[in-house]
Amino acid sequence: MATTVSGDECVRLRISDVKSETADCVSLVLDVPSDHRDRFRYVAGQYLTLRVTVGGVEHRRCYSMSSSPALAEPLRITVKRDPGGVVSNWINDTLVAGAEIHAEAPQGRFVLDSSDRDIVAFAGGSGITPVFSLIRTALATTQRGVQLFYANRSADSVIFDEPLRDLLEEYGNRIAVHHHVDTVRGVVTAGVLADFLARVGDAEYFVCGPTLFMDAVEARLCEMAVPTDRVHLERFVTATPQAAPGETDVTKEVIIELDRRSTTARYRSGNTLLQTARLAGLKAPSSCETGSCGTCIAQVTEGAARMLNNNALTDDEVDDGWVLTCQAMPTTTTVRVIYE
Ligand SMILES: Cc1cc2nc3c(=O)[nH]c(=O)nc-3n(C[C@H](O)[C@H](O)[C@H](O)COP(=O)(O)OP(=O)(O)OC[C@H]3O[C@@H](n4cnc5c(N)ncnc54)[C@H](O)[C@@H]3O)c2cc1C
Repeated sequence: MATTVSGDECVRLRISDVKSETADCVSLVLDVPSDHRDRFRYVAGQYLTLRVTVGGVEHRRCYSMSSSPALAEPLRITVKRDPGGVVSNWINDTLVAGAEIHAEAPQGRFVLDSSDRDIVAFAGGSGITPVFSLIRTALATTQRGVQLFYANRSADSVIFDEPLRDLLEEYGNRIAVHHHVDTVRGVVTAGVLADFLARVGDAEYFVCGPTLFMDAVEARLCEMAVPTDRVHLERFVTATPQAAPGETDVTKEVIIELDRRSTTARYRSGNTLLQTARLAGLKAPSSCETGSCGTCIAQVTEGAARMLNNNALTDDEVDDGWVLTCQAMPTTTTVRVIYE
């Protein structure tokens, strides 16, 4: 049976096991067909984009691997219910072993760096998913120490509680886990973060969790003057990009070069470069649409655009004109943008 659907981008993966992690979170263990093993090789911290149809409507959602590629274990994603959310509840309510889901190949830049500095990881709620993969991979493949600050609303919502205990046993003093439970200590504050950070040494920082939690951690690391290239962020959600009032009024046209074709698109005020490409009927690459994955990267070679959110490009890449088109607002009369 052919395993590729929708052109050659999406692959059918069979669910070999469904494990309930907490009352509102499941892990799906996925079989990758042998003819797609190479495409589905991944690096710890990356995610899959699922395409699911719920109630006749197709949705795309990203889910990080909670498995580690270094430990010869099957690919696994872990999905927490988002109250009122369409796809996360559908996955938790309906998917069973033997069912199939459609997924695009792994992507993402929230991955281990090549340094040998210790790792300080901050995870909030479902943000533990990529962090769990990162820390298990680092422990198994390097000598780096790991300090995990893990925040949850209540004790019964802690995902991977037992496997984390196992890591403490297996790796002894190379790993420390600091649990923060809101029902016991209130929500994470700047003071709590400062106390924790005062106890850990020089490190590489990985942060994934709810927006307010991430903002608080990022602000504290910024106050500590930690270089930005040592702070790795994975945002599961960001606000819909919005330009400052009047910012994009000046733009008339966007020239988009994609697949060796040039298209001149009329610009509609307030739209991102990605939205502009789509309105012009172009199939521009995209995935997370939160400014995290880097899939929609393109280079502005004429005019200028300002990114509202960037968790994927380095300062050098930005200086060279690279933008995440899902977050980029044009700011000059004409903008020329070239997709890789
Ligand atoms: C790179 C990346 C990796 C991720 N990895 C994981 C992971 O490993 N595990 C995980 O659980 N999640 C992960 N996510 C988040 C995941 O992709 C989904 O965003 C999440 O599951 C919610 O999707 P949903 O369809 O259930 O919710 P949605 O239907 O998208 O709704 C999201 C929220 O918005 C609210 N909402 C929706 N429509 C409206 C409206 N019209 N007005 C007001 N409110 C509205 C809903 O009530 C809900 O609270 C990741 C995201 C990214 C970008």
